[in-house]
Amino acid sequence: MPITAITGSASGIGAAVSATLRAAGHQVIGIDRSNAEVIADLSTPEGRDAAIAQVLQLSGGVLDGLICCAGVGVTAPSCGLILAVNHFGVSQLLDGLQGALAKGQQPAALVIGSVASTHSGPDGQPLVEAMLAGDEEQAVLLANNLGHPHVAYAASKNAISRHARNLAVSWGKQGIRLNVVAPGAVETPLHKASLDDARFGQATRDFVAPMGRSAHPDEIAAMVAFLQSPQASFVHGSVVFVDGGMDAMVRASRF
Ligand code: NAD
Repeated sequence: MPITAITGSASGIGAAVSATLRAAGHQVIGIDRSNAEVIADLSTPEGRDAAIAQVLQLSGGVLDGLICCAGVGVTAPSCGLILAVNHFGVSQLLDGLQGALAKGQQPAALVIGSVASTHSGPDGQPLVEAMLAGDEEQAVLLANNLGHPHVAYAASKNAISRHARNLAVSWGKQGIRLNVVAPGAVETPLHKASLDDARFGQATRDFVAPMGRSAHPDEIAAMVAFLQSPQASFVHGSVVFVDGGMDAMVRASRF
């Protein structure tokens, strides 16, 4: 039975991915702030280290899969928190669990990015550079000083997608696949919080995918399950958009 660790397993996309993989026969080690096998706060280096240690203990040091879904959106209490969870809460887990994945059977890891990763403009560039340099203190400081949650969110997803693709180049040689799934709007508590927000509600409602609707979390989980399966054995270092056509609508010539 493959053993797969999943962050953000208590809600939304992470919960759907957990249910789909359990049904496919995986032993799932869920990681979240509550309602999970591993209770941890991925917004701090100490919380991430604690999560890594508990996953290694529960898995016996061998993992076949790692899926990083945990994230916060534009309604998070601070811009720094968006970077701390969405970028460093992923990069530190990828680093800390790489050794366990290297011992797994046909191991595969996956990061939930976002269509927003392609909307990171010049304002977000210094944040992206600080994140890619691994400088959490500086990145959080810059984000809090800038004070634009949508810029911080797009930058966090841009940086983690680029980080994952950079890692994929070296991980491939060790036989560990690593991909990114970039969802569009998905019906989860995170998305509902954006819709209900006075600052971002209208823009969120106006950004409609060509398919004319948002996704159900199961539609993201289906792609994640495929990418984690042996059927996707040569898919590596890819960013796969599961967005009802949003990326095609915004950047038809960029692929
Ligand atoms: P969600 O709020 O339903 O789930 C997010 C989960 O992450 C929650 O269970 C939460 O407790 C966990 N989490 C947040 N901060 C954490 C922390 N500090 N430590 C541990 N766990 C923490 O949201 P969702 O929509 O399912 O989001 C999942 C991922 O999908 C996120 O990375 C999000 O950015 C991404 N995403 C979502 C959408 C969307 O429209 N919903 C679109 C694109 C990308």
